This record gives sequence, C-alpha cells and structure tokens, in this order.
Amino acid sequence: MKGSESSGSGVAHPTEMPRDRAFLASLAASLLDTGGMALVYLDRNRVCRHADQHFAAALGRSPADLTGRPLDGIEHPIVAALGAAIAVVAGSPAPRSAPVDCQTVGCDGHRSILSGSVIVHRDAAGATLGYLGTFHQTGDPDRIAEFVIRRDAFVATLLDAAVDGIIVSDRSGIIRSINRACCRLFGYEDSELIGRNMAILMPPPFSRDHDRYIDTYRRTDRAKIIGIGRDTLGQRRDGTVFPIHLSVGEARLGDEVTFVGIIRDISDRLAAEQRASYLARHDPLTGVLTRTAFLEECEALFAGRRTDGLEGGIADRSGGDLFALFSLDVDQFSDVNEAFGFHVGDAALKAMVSRVTEVLPPNTIICRIAADEFAALARVTDAEHARTLAGVLHDRLTASIYADRHWVRLRLSVGAAVQDETVSTLEDLNAKAKLALQAIQHNGGNAVCFYTPEMAAAATRRMMLTMHLTHAIERNELRLVYQPIVDKAGRVGSAEALLRWDHHALGPVSPAEFIPVAEESGLIVPITDWVLSTAIAQMTDWEAEGVLPDRVFLNISGLQFLRGNLTARLGELLGEHPSLRSHLGLEITEQAAVRDLKVAVRTLGELADLGIQAAIDDFGSGYSSLSYVQQLPVAKLKIDRAFVIDVPENPKSNALVRAAVGMAHGLGLTTVAEGVETEEQRDFLVSVGCDMMQGYLFGRPMAPEALADMVRSQAAPAIV
Ligand code: C2E
Ligand code: MG
Ligand code: MG
Repeated sequence: MKGSESSGSGVAHPTEMPRDRAFLASLAASLLDTGGMALVYLDRNRVCRHADQHFAAALGRSPADLTGRPLDGIEHPIVAALGAAIAVVAGSPAPRSAPVDCQTVGCDGHRSILSGSVIVHRDAAGATLGYLGTFHQTGDPDRIAEFVIRRDAFVATLLDAAVDGIIVSDRSGIIRSINRACCRLFGYEDSELIGRNMAILMPPPFSRDHDRYIDTYRRTDRAKIIGIGRDTLGQRRDGTVFPIHLSVGEARLGDEVTFVGIIRDISDRLAAEQRASYLARHDPLTGVLTRTAFLEECEALFAGRRTDGLEGGIADRSGGDLFALFSLDVDQFSDVNEAFGFHVGDAALKAMVSRVTEVLPPNTIICRIAADEFAALARVTDAEHARTLAGVLHDRLTASIYADRHWVRLRLSVGAAVQDETVSTLEDLNAKAKLALQAIQHNGGNAVCFYTPEMAAAATRRMMLTMHLTHAIERNELRLVYQPIVDKAGRVGSAEALLRWDHHALGPVSPAEFIPVAEESGLIVPITDWVLSTAIAQMTDWEAEGVLPDRVFLNISGLQFLRGNLTARLGELLGEHPSLRSHLGLEITEQAAVRDLKVAVRTLGELADLGIQAAIDDFGSGYSSLSYVQQLPVAKLKIDRAFVIDVPENPKSNALVRAAVGMAHGLGLTTVAEGVETEEQRDFLVSVGCDMMQGYLFGRPMAPEALADMVRSQAAPAIV
C-alpha cells in the first residue's frame, strides 16, 4: 500500500536525489549565489554566459550588461587578470585551475583586492566547454595597515596612560613590552627590561619561585596565578622591596602564549590596613592594647600558642615562670577631669601608662580596659615578687604627676592575682584580680589588694545581698534610727537619720555593707525614696508631739544627688507639710559634690530655695578641697571620724581639725565633728571652736521614740 502511494503520487521520494537538469541548475545557482563570492562563467570563446551581482559590480556594470558579451572588450584589471589565468589553464590540459589576483578601485575611491581562481569546465571527453571564475573581495590593504598602525598607537597610549604597571611577557617569562607606569614603579628604563626575565622585578625567594613556576607551567600547562590576582612583593632597581598586587592574564594565538601582568603598588593600602588594625587593637590615647586584643594575646600565651621567645617578648620567661595579673583602677578619676579638665586627665593617664611600663618587667602586656582602668600581665618569679611589684606600682602611680602644667595626685586601687595550681586559664586569673580590685574598692580604695579565696565569698555575698535587698522594702525590713547631734552645751540640736536593714534570715546588715551594694545595683533610688518619705512621716509625728529637733539630716548618696530628681520629689513630699522644710537637712559626701560641681551647685541652690539645709559629710576623707566647698551653697561641714578619732593625742590630727574648723568658720559654715566617743575628744573639739558634735558619747543611733524622749527630757527644765 505504501509503495503504490509513493509511486502513484508522482512525487519524488525524499531519500532519492532528483537528477534532472533543472534541479541541478537551481542547486548550482543557489550555491554560487551564496556569501560575498563574485562569480563569472565564460564559454570557450570567452563570451560571458553568467555573471553574478558581485562580479558585475566589481566591473561597475549590471549582470544583464555582461551576459552574452565577450569580456575582452572591457578594459578592467579584473578582465585582464582573468584573461591571463584562462590563458594559463587553456594552454595546457593539465592544470584545471589558475589563481587570479588583482586590485580594483571602487567608485568610492577605496581600493580592494579580488583574489580567487579560474577553473576549466570540460566535458566527459575532456573538451573545454568554458571557464568558471570565482573571487573573494578583501578590503583596502592600505586602510588595513593604517588601522593596524593606528590601533597600535592607541594601545600604546592606553598602556602608558594606565596608572597600574602593565607588563607583557612570553611563555618563558621574557619581558616583551612594558608600560611607563611599570618602569616608574620599578625604577627602570623600558630598554633595560625588554628582553630580560620577569624575575628581575621580584625579590628572592619570589624570583627563584617564578623561574620554577614558569618551568612547571611549560611542562604541565598548569597555571596557579592566571586569572587570580594576589598580593606579593616587587623589587625596585635599587633593591628596595615593596608590596604589590599582581594579576596575570594569558593570551594564546596558536602555539604562541603571551602573559599580561597588571601590577599595582599597594604600599599605601597596606599601610592604611595596618594602621586600621593597629587602631583596632590599641588604645589611641595611651598606645596600650585594647581589652579584646589584650585578652586574645594573653589567652594565646596561656594556651602556649605564643612562642615568640624573643628577648623582651612575653613568651620570654626571663621575668619569671609565673604570670601575675594587676588590675588598676583610679578612684574617682572623673574628679580629676572635673577639677582640671579632660586634657589634664588624658595627660595623667598617659603618665600612668609610662610609669606602669617603668615599674613592671619589660615583657609585660598592658591594656586599657576602661577610661581609668588598666590591666597588666607580667611574668613574676613568685607571689612575693608580685607583691613587691604591686607595692612599687602603687607608690609610683600615686606619686604626684605633672600633667599638662598641673600637679595631680591620683588615688589608685590595685587588685592582683598570681598564677597558682588553681589557675588554668586567663579568665581564672582575670576573675581573681577583678575580685581583689572590687574588695579594695569596697574598703575605701587607694591601696593594693591580692586575691584571697574569701574574696570570692564576699562577692557571692554581695550578689546575694543585692538579691535580697530588692525585696527589703516590700518585706518591711528597713527602718530608720536617729543619732543625736549636740551643741557645745550638750543640747540635742539636730539628729541624723541612719538606715537599718534587718533581714529576716541574715539578721542586721550594716549600711556600710549594703549601701554600696544598693548604689552598685541602682536599688539606692527606691531606697532613698523610702528614706525620704519615712523620715518626713516621722518628722510630722514629732512635730505633732512637739519633739521635732531643729534639723533632721538624711544621707543622700552621690548617685541620687547628682542624677535623681531629688528637688522635685522633696517638693512633692513636703507639699503638705511646708513647716518641715526648715527642719530638714541633707548630707552629701564631699566626693559626690565635687564629682559634678555644676549639678551640685544647682541642686544645692534649689534645695536652699526650699528651705532645706545641706551639709558636707565625711569632710577630709576624699580629695578634700575647701576651694570647692566654698563654691557650694551648704551650711554645715561634718569633719570625718578618721580625724576625730586621734584627737587630742595626735598633734597632726589636732592641727587638721583646728584648721578645718577655722577655715569652715571663715567661709561662714557651721562645723560638726563625727564619731565623738570620749570626753577628751569633746573637750578638745569645744576648745577649737567646733560648733556641734555627734558620737556615741552623746548617744548611739536610736529608735525614733528614744530620740523623742531625749528631746523631751532636755526641753523639760525649760518648761518648768
Ligand atoms: P555617715 O553618714 O558618716 O554616718 C555616720 C556613721 O558613723 C554611722 O554609721 C554611725 O552609726 C557611725 N557613728 C556615729 N557615731 C559614732 C561613734 O562615736 N563611733 C563610731 N565608731 N561610729 C559612729 P552607720 O549607721 O553604720 O552608717 C554608715 C554609713 O552608711 C553612713 O555614714 C552613711 O554614709 C551610710 N548611710 C547610712 N544611712 C544611710 C541612708 O539612709 N542613705 C545613704 N545614702 N547612706 C546611708
Ligand atoms: Mg552621714
Ligand atoms: Mg559621716
């Protein structure tokens, strides 16, 4: 059925090539008409039988003009060249084709070249039927040459204008071309480099590696750098070495391989990177390590990763086999900034660092942990050695510093820990030094303290106290006691309210212990609020009973005084009891007042406007300076117990107390001596003109009822 379908339709089977003349003629015409080929067919009499568009156009004619005409009549180089080629093939039976090359000039004036060949067309018997000429047209050779010349100049300009060095070498690494930037970079003339091996631009061992690299590449064709840029080193003509970034490209033309290297001087970039990394690891003010960098260095050292062993390096054990960590903190450093300005503070910190460097062994690692906090890891022979170093360190750092045209004396707390069998990491040592620092700070600071196991217990206790203190108010564990303050005649003029905490399980906790905990944790804010409202409620009761002392002083912590909204809160609490204003007094420590003099002056002024009196507590225990006190609107100066305790036996204390009283009076302030326990002390204080006294001699801190009784009893004779 299939066969009848195919033969019956009269259509040729697709797999069967038709052989009729018309088909072959159309196929030949399609083939000949393709592309830019010019084609002409002449019969054996050289009459044109077929000329295509391209051929006719080359002669400036149309195909119709040429067909049926002998070409010999046309004067044209291509006709002449064609004739010559036909003469070659017609003259001998052997060659079937001959080349044809000629130049023509088009009507646009541009030259072009026609090149091709002539083939003899013979029949089966070998008789010549005609000649087939086929030609390709190529562009103007001059224009090509000109283009090449222009392109080369352009490329050369481009290369020379490039900022980066560009260098071209062959596959053996021999320099073939080099741009101006590259010559400048390496300090050579191009004539000195062309023909030389690239290795001349590299310092050893890179130059040696380069030869080996080229060698391997030649053998294996494996390239490690091509297409991948990398940072390496270059060497100038004068031998100096500098960092470069090198990227290499490869061009292949047949068997010929050319490398193009682009070279950039990265000295500036590296310097900037180095500077950035230096700044990231060093404190810009003092130049010592930052905390993170310090911990990294020390950690590596502890883990034994730092093995530089260089003389003066920390891995050098010449200082001793053990590590000691010293944690340094300037007590109230902000006072120095406040008093003298930041430039003096900065100069003092720099001087501190240079003194630490002087005192501790040369291989010590030092870092600045916070504004006024430093740590130093030093090698020591034993604990005794560490103690000696710490002592010298404290002495040197607390000696007067001449900082930016001012003499400054710092108070410094040093916490220290020495490596022993319980210390296996830097963290252990650090934690111990930190605990020792906290311990000394809780004990008044300005001294050296070495870690003892009890400190860990104390820290745990502080944490526990913080936890319990949070609930002290709601659990009704706080109460106020009042200590009388008497005048020269022994009359209770005023009283100081002192806070007590009776924990349900721990028992009474001293304010000397829990007030610092409250300050550290921020709990001092609600606690102070409780003190204010409780004391004012008590004063209201006393007023009603007629036993209100002239002044009741409340202690206000520095934090609350400087940052809290004290005036507003007091205004609120006293709103309903305006008469109490003239009976209320606040005690602030000298340090708190000096820490932020501006705020202190403002707050004290506001308080004075409310009628509230202020007293400077613990005068003489800090950076005492009457010149600051003079600026503060306060009425009283409380001389610290530390001075009173020694009078009248210690002539120095006598002189100090006498001077303080004299100066306070000079400023129009009343003086109160704290901690008066003996009659001798009282007599001395009265003799030097101290106005008021407070101490166990006159009465311990007592319940409000007891104080009311005291006031009542002394008022009694007057009534009688
Ligand atoms: P301070 O304000 O200097 O209070 C005087 C301290 O000396 C009181 O200790 C008092 O009991 C004690 N004292 C008084 N006379 C004598 C004496 O003759 N001999 C001896 N050895 N000590 C005497 P206290 O009550 O333990 O308070 C200690 C510190 O706690 C106070 O020192 C004050 O700085 C702070 N503090 C107490 N209550 C409060 C409070 O409500 N708020 C704040 N922020 N701090 C408070
Ligand atoms: Mg006080
Ligand atoms: Mg005091």
